[in-house]
Amino acid sequence: MSTLRFHAVKESLTHSPKEVWENDRRSNLFGKNVFNEQAMRQHLTKDAFDGVMNAIWHGKKIDRTIADQVASSMKDWALSKGVTHYTHWFQPLTGATAEKHDAFFETTSSGASIEKFGGSQLVQQEPDASSFPSGGIRNTFEARGYTAWDPTSPAFIYGTTLCIPTIFVAYTGEALDYKTPLLRALQAVDAAATDVCKYFDKNVRKVSSSLGWEQEYFLVDKALALSRPDITLTGRTLLGHSSAKGQQLDDHYFGSIPTRALSFMRELETECMLLGIPVKTRHNEVAPNQFELAPIFEEANLAVDHNSLLMDIMGRVASKHNFKVLMHEKPFAGINGSGKHNNWSLSTDTGVNLLAPGKTPMSNLQFLTFFVNTIKAVNEHEALLRAAIASASNDHRLGANEAPPAIMSVFIGEQLTKVLEELEGVTKGKLSPEEKTELKLNVVGKIPDVLLDNTDRNRTSPFAFTGNKFEFRAVGSTANCGNPMTVLNTIVAKQLKDFKVEVDKLIDNKGLKKDEAVFNVLREYIKSSKRILFEGNGYDQSWEKEAEKRGLSNNKTTPEALKSKITKETIALFEEMNVMSAIETKARYEIEVEAYIMHIQIESRVLGDIARNHVVPTAVKYQNVLIENVKGLKEIFDKKFNEVSKEQLNLIEEISGHIEGINANVTKMIEERKKANAMQDIEDKAHSYCFNVRSLFDQIRYHCDKLELLVDDELWPLTKYRELLFTR
Ligand code: ADP
Ligand code: MG
Repeated sequence: MSTLRFHAVKESLTHSPKEVWENDRRSNLFGKNVFNEQAMRQHLTKDAFDGVMNAIWHGKKIDRTIADQVASSMKDWALSKGVTHYTHWFQPLTGATAEKHDAFFETTSSGASIEKFGGSQLVQQEPDASSFPSGGIRNTFEARGYTAWDPTSPAFIYGTTLCIPTIFVAYTGEALDYKTPLLRALQAVDAAATDVCKYFDKNVRKVSSSLGWEQEYFLVDKALALSRPDITLTGRTLLGHSSAKGQQLDDHYFGSIPTRALSFMRELETECMLLGIPVKTRHNEVAPNQFELAPIFEEANLAVDHNSLLMDIMGRVASKHNFKVLMHEKPFAGINGSGKHNNWSLSTDTGVNLLAPGKTPMSNLQFLTFFVNTIKAVNEHEALLRAAIASASNDHRLGANEAPPAIMSVFIGEQLTKVLEELEGVTKGKLSPEEKTELKLNVVGKIPDVLLDNTDRNRTSPFAFTGNKFEFRAVGSTANCGNPMTVLNTIVAKQLKDFKVEVDKLIDNKGLKKDEAVFNVLREYIKSSKRILFEGNGYDQSWEKEAEKRGLSNNKTTPEALKSKITKETIALFEEMNVMSAIETKARYEIEVEAYIMHIQIESRVLGDIARNHVVPTAVKYQNVLIENVKGLKEIFDKKFNEVSKEQLNLIEEISGHIEGINANVTKMIEERKKANAMQDIEDKAHSYCFNVRSLFDQIRYHCDKLELLVDDELWPLTKYRELLFTR
């Protein structure tokens, strides 16, 4: 019992479910620690309240006197709740959230002390930005970036700190975070979608994008997780033989939530309630110790903030319950990984979900317009959408033997496929009165009935229509949703903008009626977007061949996928939609490529270390035991020696074979790393890390995992899969 593994296992046995008190109704707790509309109505003067509301709804600037008033009320509200510090809370491109706490406390010239927080502190802060990734925009030594208040996401209290959601930009104006381009993309889709809505309803003044994410994660006992250097340093297991029992029986998915996990969830949900994160569902997932949590959908910017905040809180609450949360997309080989489905839709300020079929033929034509335009947008930008979810960790999910595949496609179900087929047959130009009636009654008019029976669900499609929203399923569990949401909203905005131009042209130049023009443009879109529609199963090998024929991209690795982020078309797209300048687009690309390199570099070092310093010495130790045994047998037996020691001798040899396999491959991996590190060009370097370094992981792992099966369990130093996955 000398190894850390056994100490950890012993400690894990002492971890029992923690008592969690829920002493108030959730509806009473909800938003208690948020300076939301209700709190603002109570605490702000009418002018200040109107100022903030105008900023939220109409993007109006908030002037200094109003900001001063808001700050002062926000401070009083926070102090009444025991808060001592404030921070600008933002999402730099590291993927985590960042904050720099300042106390409200100040001393006056007379030596007295007061609590102070003015408009200028609310509106702007200058964190030491030098250590956040900027992709060459900002020279590190300049460290000139600042955070600026985002009034569309309410301030909240976490612990004893008032957190103010902010954007993070360089002094030269370029975005250094996820939020800034997202806000611009949301503006772009608002403008483009509102224009298109006006064909159907003149009263629409604003279109918002909604997001409902579903966060999957694993819970592993903290002592056990800490006993594994790979989990501690990389968030996943780099080796480990699969457990005899995994997810074959589906007993975790269909079983009740384990008690310890449930008390973690209850405490987490209480925290979420206080912070106004509307979490609603919790359940077991397919793999052992895997779970999911999902809120009610919200406006996309707020939903992104809430997901980032949630990921942070999850880690802290888990620790109190002696768990470590694994957000990694593939923490364990051989069982399911984790994703974060992004449910997305657009809705008007008149309360209409543009991706839900309506009650009249006209509202259904509006639905079809947004539905078909979204499909077209995905078709045109499939490679960019794939790039939006690319990361070293998500590579394990996409295109591995797990859905969804690295090929982007759209699933719409049998019924809507039929509707699109009908629309494809619409006459070119003006429509006869009979055709119009036919379309209204039997095509467009039939949609609501049709969707009610649309129960066919394809769980493996990366982008699926699910009745009143699209579900982007390829997003990874560690991702900041800001990235995919920026891309999705931008491509849809661009598509809607183009659509408007085409429809107007038919109305103005060809004298078509509005609905005739819409039908005409949609018909052409349906024809030209066919290749992206796929109703089959993503696991299917034949789909890869088919997708290739259709000219769809199939970028299995991050370095390949990311290239779509800096094509001429992408740069032009982001510029045209005012989402990112060319400099910002290129900087982000660089940051992501570099993050990929770092990621693989760290994993490679950790794997090399564990293989050489944990696995090989243990194998040698066990081999020595066998050698002693064989020597003993030789002493006792004479003639029968060969027979009785046969298996031991085989084992000794087998172990030597695996040790050699490990050492040779680790040596090779180090060589490859050195070569890669010497490269100046980051694309070459990433490529080399991907195809020359990372490609050796599997072989090293193979030999380690074989040794795990051979070596005496008492000697094995690394906590095993069965312990990590089945300790509850
Ligand atoms: P599942 O996909 O597991 O069947 P649901 O369809 O009930 O689950 O919803 C999953 C997520 O989709 C939830 O976060 C929910 O709030 C969100 N959602 C539901 N309707 C919309 C919508 N119109 N726009 C965006 N998200 C939505
Ligand atoms: Mg779902």
